[in-house]
Amino acid sequence: MPKPLDPQTKKQLVARVKYYKEMGIYDFYRRPVEEGAEVILQPAGENPPVNTMTPAKTKPALAAMPPIIGDKPSALELIRQDIGDCTRCRLHKGRTNLVFGVGNVNADLMFIGEGPGADEDAKGEPFVGRAGQLLNNMITAMGIKREDVYIANVVKCRPPQNRTPEKDECDTCSPFLMRQIDVIKPKAIVALGAVAAKNLLAVNDSMANLRGRWYDFRNSKLLVTYHPAYLLRDPRQKKEAWKDLQMAMKFLGLNPPAAKNEPE
Ligand code: URA
Repeated sequence: MPKPLDPQTKKQLVARVKYYKEMGIYDFYRRPVEEGAEVILQPAGENPPVNTMTPAKTKPALAAMPPIIGDKPSALELIRQDIGDCTRCRLHKGRTNLVFGVGNVNADLMFIGEGPGADEDAKGEPFVGRAGQLLNNMITAMGIKREDVYIANVVKCRPPQNRTPEKDECDTCSPFLMRQIDVIKPKAIVALGAVAAKNLLAVNDSMANLRGRWYDFRNSKLLVTYHPAYLLRDPRQKKEAWKDLQMAMKFLGLNPPAAKNEPE
């Protein structure tokens, strides 16, 4: 019988497995362990390759956790480096630029869209086309600036012909977005459109059912509203989107600029 783990080691192991899952690593194998051997969590800086097939000669050791980085720009930079010149899903084939995310690393409010379009792919920045212009107006109507918030997408590479990203593409990209959220720690997240909402919340429901309430999401609160591109096609829904944004403003204690009503 293997020796039971002490609670501290067990906690560290659970945290490590969770971290790897968020990195998209799901498969683990056990190195042969001598009966009763002590489990040593190797300190950072003594990193054996994670998936080495070389059996441990002495005590079994697990790969070190990455260093905990306190400053947010460096933590985000590390995520960007981990993404690298990504070829994890088929979307990389058509991309010009990977669209990581942009904005204030200390933002209280984060917007998450679906995926880059042609303008975003060309520039490497989310929401810079027509939908982006409307998103900027929505943000301004809230009494804040684009530079105050953080903006990202469910997938970081443009789907061909702007098609909806497929589930496996979203799932592949998601661990990086989750890490971005965990670094930024926004008080509120606004999911823009059904694709973002359904992927983030892992539910398949109509916008009518998804809107109008707060969801607990990764130590933050998440709200669903219409995607700006949808609002460009059906401007009558702007009133509804404005109600959603007002919910977010109330939650964040924001006051709209004087004499301002719904965004144009
Ligand atoms: N639509 C999105 O969902 N994201 C962008 O970045 C641009 C358009």
